[in-house]
Amino acid sequence: MAKPRSLKYIFYRNLGAALVVPLLLMSLVTVFTAYQNARTQMVANSKRVSILLSSTIKTSIQDSESGIAALSMLLDGGKIEPEALPYVLGQILKSHGSFLDIRVLNDRGIVWAMSPYDEDVLGLDMSRAPQFFDAKKYGVVLWSKAYISAYMGHPTASISVPFSGGVIVASYDFVKLRRTVREFAPDSGLTVSILDEAGTILAHSEAGKALRRERDPNTDDYLALSKESLRLAMFDIGGHEEMITVTPISATGWTLVVAQNMKLVMGPVYKLAYTYGVFAIIFLLLGIALAYHFLSRVFSYFQKLIVNIRRVSDGSYQLDLPHEGIREMEEVEENFYLMSRHIRTREEHIVELNEELQLRLGEAETANLAKSAFLANMSHELRTPLNGALGMLQLLQMCDLNAEQKDYTEIAIRSCKSLTGLLNDILDLSRIEANRMPIIPERFRLSEIYTSLDEIFGLTARKKGVDLILEVSPEIPDAQLGDPVRIKQILFNLVGNAVKFTATGNIMVEAYPLPSDGLDVYRVLFSVSDTGLGIDDSQLENIFKPFTQTEASFTRRFGGAGLGLSIVKRLVELMSGKISIASSVGYGTVVYFCLTFGPVPSQDENVSVPAEISSKADMSGVRILVAEDEKVNQMFIEGLLIKHGVHPVCVKNGQEALEMLESNSFDLILMDVQMPIMDGMVATQLIRESGKPYAEIPVIALTAHAMGGDREKFLKAGFSDYLSKPLEFDDLLKVLAQNRPQ
Ligand code: ADP
Repeated sequence: MAKPRSLKYIFYRNLGAALVVPLLLMSLVTVFTAYQNARTQMVANSKRVSILLSSTIKTSIQDSESGIAALSMLLDGGKIEPEALPYVLGQILKSHGSFLDIRVLNDRGIVWAMSPYDEDVLGLDMSRAPQFFDAKKYGVVLWSKAYISAYMGHPTASISVPFSGGVIVASYDFVKLRRTVREFAPDSGLTVSILDEAGTILAHSEAGKALRRERDPNTDDYLALSKESLRLAMFDIGGHEEMITVTPISATGWTLVVAQNMKLVMGPVYKLAYTYGVFAIIFLLLGIALAYHFLSRVFSYFQKLIVNIRRVSDGSYQLDLPHEGIREMEEVEENFYLMSRHIRTREEHIVELNEELQLRLGEAETANLAKSAFLANMSHELRTPLNGALGMLQLLQMCDLNAEQKDYTEIAIRSCKSLTGLLNDILDLSRIEANRMPIIPERFRLSEIYTSLDEIFGLTARKKGVDLILEVSPEIPDAQLGDPVRIKQILFNLVGNAVKFTATGNIMVEAYPLPSDGLDVYRVLFSVSDTGLGIDDSQLENIFKPFTQTEASFTRRFGGAGLGLSIVKRLVELMSGKISIASSVGYGTVVYFCLTFGPVPSQDENVSVPAEISSKADMSGVRILVAEDEKVNQMFIEGLLIKHGVHPVCVKNGQEALEMLESNSFDLILMDVQMPIMDGMVATQLIRESGKPYAEIPVIALTAHAMGGDREKFLKAGFSDYLSKPLEFDDLLKVLAQNRPQ
C-alpha cells in the first residue's frame, strides 16, 4: 500500500490546484486578451488616424491648389482688373488661411502683384527660380521642396500654377498642416509626421521637429514602405518599440507617418498585468492564511482526538475532547465519547468477569489441591494395610501350602500388587500436579533399563505370542545422565500398554539419536510401537488426559485407571521433552517421545553396575535389629527373616532402637523412617554420632515414600541403604547380602 500522505500535503496540493493554477491561468488569459485588444485597437487607431489625416491633408492641398487654379482661370479670362488684383489676392489669402503669401509673376518672371504687400519683393525677377521656370516649362501645377520661409520663418513649400500671362506662386504654410496634425495626435500617444519625397519633415506633431537637419534614421524605410498604400510596421526607435503606419499622400509625393509608442499603448495592459499579479499574490496569501488557520484548527483537533484515543487505549477515561464547534467534528466527538463509554462498560464487565473467574479458578485450584491431597492421603492410608496384606500373603506363600492354596495366595498377591501399582500411579499424579515430583539426574545405563524391560515384559509378551524387540541405535552411548527412575517409569507404562493391547505381531522399543545443540548432550527419540488394537482418532486427542480410557463402557476387556499416559506425558514434559502418539485402529499404535540427556563426565563413562547378588545369600547367624512401629510390617519382616534363619530383635521406635544397641550387639539395623517418639532419621544420626562401637553398623532405611533421589538423601542422613515398602522379599535379601558384615 502507498505511504499515507499527510493532511497538510493534501491540503496544500489541493489549494494549489484550486487557487494558484486558476488564478494564474485567469491572469494570463485576461492579460493576453487585453494585450490583443490593445494591439488591435492600436492598429485600428493608427489606420483611422492615417486615413483621416491623409484625406484631410489631401483635401487641404486640393483646396489650396483649387484656390490658386480658380485664380489662374480668372486671370486667364481677364476677369480681374490689374488694380483689383492685390485685393483679390488678399481675399484668397484670408479665406484659405493656408498660404503665407501669393505672388503673381508675369511672363518674364517679374513679381507683378502680391499679397501681402512687400515692396522688396514686388518687381523682383524670379525668372530663374524653379517655381517659375518649371511651371512655365511644363505648364502644370508644381509643388517645390519644403524650405523655411524667409518672410515668416515658417516651414513652407511653394505651389506654382501657370496661367496665360505668367505663373502664380503661393507659399503653402505648413504651420496650418502642423496644427491639423497636432489636432489628430494630442494625447493618444501618437506621433504624426509628414515627409516629402526627400525625407524632409514637413510637419511634425511635436513642436520644432519640422525641417530639422537631423533625419529620423528610419526615414528611408518609411519612404520605401510608402511606395504602396497604407502600411504597418514595427520599428525600434530610440530604444523603444513603435508601431509605424506609413501612408502616401499621392498628389504631393509626401508621406504621412503615424508612430504609436507601444509602451504608451501597452501601459494599461502592463498595469493590468501588474494589478492582476498583485491581486493574485494577495488572494494567494489570503488563501494560505485562511487555509493555515483552518488547518491549524483541524490539526489541533486531530491531535487532541489522538491524545484522547490513546488515553482510552491505555484504559483511562478522563476525556478532554476539543469541542471545535464544527458539526462533523462534534459528531466524531459524540461518537467517540459513546464508544469510550461502551468500552469502559465492557471493560468493567470484563474486570468483574475476570474477578469471578479468578475466584472460580482459585476455588477450582483449591478443590484440585484438595483432591490431590485427598488422593495422596488415601493412597498412603490404603497402602499401609495393603502392605500388611501383601507381607502376610508373602509369608503365607512360604508356608507349606497345597496346590489350591498356593494358587489362591498367588492370585491374592497379584491383586495386592496391582492395587499397589494403582496407588503408586495416583500418588505420582498428585505429586506431579502439586509440583512435587522431583527429577533427579544421575548416571545410568540405557542397557540396564532395556534389560529390566525385557525381564518384566518379555515373558508376558512371549506367552501371548508377541515379540518384544528392543533396539538402541549404536550412535547413542550407553552411559547417560538422566533420571533413570522416571525414564523407566515412562517406558514401563508404554510397553505395559503395548503388551496389554497387543494380541499378535510384535512390540518394538527403539531409540534413535536426534541432532542436539550442545556438546555431549544427547537428544534421543524413543518410540514404542505395537501391532495391537490401535486407538480411534476421536480418542487420541484426550488420550493424555488423566482417567481417559478408550473403552469407557461396562464391557471393558482391559483393566487400568486411565492414568498411565497422563503420568507419562507429564514426566516427559518435566524432563523438558515432547511426546506424541499416532495410532490406527486395527493396525497398531506408536508413541514417540524425545528426551535430552546431559553430558556424562568422562570418569563416569563406566557407570558401576552393582554386582549381581544372589538372593539366595546365606543369612544364618546374622544379628538384625528391626525398628518398625507398624505391627503388621514388623510381623512381616520378622517372619521373612525367621524363614531365612535370622531371628531379629524388633523395637517400635528410634529411642528403643538406641536403647537396644546399648545392651546388645547387632550386625545390621532395618530402620523405619517414620516412627513416633524418635524417627529413623534422628535415630540414625545419633547412632552415627555416638562414637560407640555400634556407630559404624549398617542401617537400612525402610520407607513408604521411595522416590528417585531418596537414596542420596538417606545416605546423607547416615543410612547405608534403603528399601521401599511394601517390602519385596528378593529386594530385602539383596540389600541384606550387600550390607551384612563380612
Ligand atoms: P491405563 O492405565 O488404563 O492403561 P493409560 O493412560 O495408559 O491408562 O491408557 C489410556 C487408554 O488408552 C487405555 O485404556 C487404552 O484404551 C488406550 N491405550 C493406551 N495405549 C494403547 C495401546 N498401545 N494400544 C491401544 N490402546 C492403548
